[in-house]
Amino acid sequence: MSDAQAGPPERSASPDADIVNEAEIWRVLEGARGHDAARVREVLARARELRGLEAPDVAVLAGVSDPELIHEMFVAAREVKERIYGRRLVLFAPLYISNLCSNECLYCAFRARNVAVRRRALNQDEIARETRLLVEQGHKRILLVAGEAYPSEGFAYVRKAIDTVYSVRSGRGEIRRVNVNVAPLTVEEFRELKAAGIGTFQLFQETYHHGTYARVHVGGKKRDYDWRLGAMDRAIQAGIDDVGIGVLFGLFDWRFELLALLQHVRHLERRFGVGPHTVSVPRLEPAVGSDMAAHPPQPVSDVEFRRIVAILRLAVPYTGIILSTRENPNLRRETFALGVSQISGGSRTNPGGYAQGEEDEEAQFSVGDHRSLDDVVRDVAALGYIPSFCTACYRLGRTGQEFMELAKPGEIKRHCDPNAIVTFQEYLLDYASPATREVGRRTIEQALNELPEPLRSATRRMVERVEQGERDVFC
Ligand code: SAM
Ligand code: SF4
Repeated sequence: MSDAQAGPPERSASPDADIVNEAEIWRVLEGARGHDAARVREVLARARELRGLEAPDVAVLAGVSDPELIHEMFVAAREVKERIYGRRLVLFAPLYISNLCSNECLYCAFRARNVAVRRRALNQDEIARETRLLVEQGHKRILLVAGEAYPSEGFAYVRKAIDTVYSVRSGRGEIRRVNVNVAPLTVEEFRELKAAGIGTFQLFQETYHHGTYARVHVGGKKRDYDWRLGAMDRAIQAGIDDVGIGVLFGLFDWRFELLALLQHVRHLERRFGVGPHTVSVPRLEPAVGSDMAAHPPQPVSDVEFRRIVAILRLAVPYTGIILSTRENPNLRRETFALGVSQISGGSRTNPGGYAQGEEDEEAQFSVGDHRSLDDVVRDVAALGYIPSFCTACYRLGRTGQEFMELAKPGEIKRHCDPNAIVTFQEYLLDYASPATREVGRRTIEQALNELPEPLRSATRRMVERVEQGERDVFC
């Protein structure tokens, strides 16, 4: 019987010493100093085989400073991204339901003692209204976000919110996948999330460095590093197949964080046979009432940020990389090519923000990309990517291990490309502006022509079904 089936007691579900070993990280970083170009090129050649990289290789890539070698690293990342993900880019929107919070994360506007933020927990009617607005923009998947304190009904609030989101219909649209980013839960609570039909449970460790973690989390339950680090183990034990991890870049040395993140990935692979479905790469952004957010302790430059994305793509090739609207449009464009596979579009980070139409003093942090979903979609399509609203895998049970198998290059062509094309076609017909429709049609035609037969004809037939009025067509 595996560990997962044996179900160790909740609190000690994953002693963090088994997951993140700081001494080992420093040792590996030290060992990678002074590497030569030949060693870097050897690592890049191995990464091109799509089998991922181990810690010493990642440390070598993290230490590269020669512009020519950085360029070679970017070329390799582009190649890996293209071979595995093709040119599709999945779109989602965050839905902030509440900014109540009992923690003191010094970088976040929602922290308990921040009086500059007006507190608000949306009621179920308000959640339905926000959802309707997202559906009417054309969204099909959302990320439900909340601070770590719930209205009087407790955690049931989150469960009800998920039901509310799934119940909303507007015109021909609905939300087909709800991912969730809320505080760490018990196994029992994770089971409730699973029963509510969530897609991915997402949670960022923020920083894997113990000392920094203690310095930036100064009040509330979130001070417990181990409880947070063990959350994904508990989620998987509860039957949630798709988990998403991440680091809040800017709090500590990004090289350390990358290696720690890799240790977390390898821990999940060892223990459960499958790694995280996604890795998120938020960077610290200005937030109302936070000096730390205005002056990140260890800022990450744009060039370093691109290196982070490229190294992650090479190190964990089959894992999705998520970029949010925290980043400005230019950087977003550049990182698509390097490995990003999911982006948010048309986002608001304050509860009720879609109805209000703008950010305000309830917002969590400043959004760097203020464009509407239609603008983002047009831009993505004009760059030659296929904006995808696909939610097929999760609804067909292709999650966890099965998804990872599918993510292998030959397989992707059978499902993801057709589904991306067909959901994009649905978007163009139901929601796009004339300008976006024009650009989108060309992108679809080109993508269809690039598919091998008999897949091309099969996908064309799916597109025709959508044109004739059918919706939610997928394979
Ligand atoms: N309260 C839950 C938690 O902390 O895990 C979930 C919601 S929290 C709003 C989601 C994420 O927002 C955090 O994990 C953190 O990484 C990110 N965040 C907080 N402050 C931020 C800032 N100033 N800039 C960018 N991201 C930030
Ligand atoms: Fe609360 Fe999460 Fe913000 Fe921390 S990051 S203050 S837990 S909402």
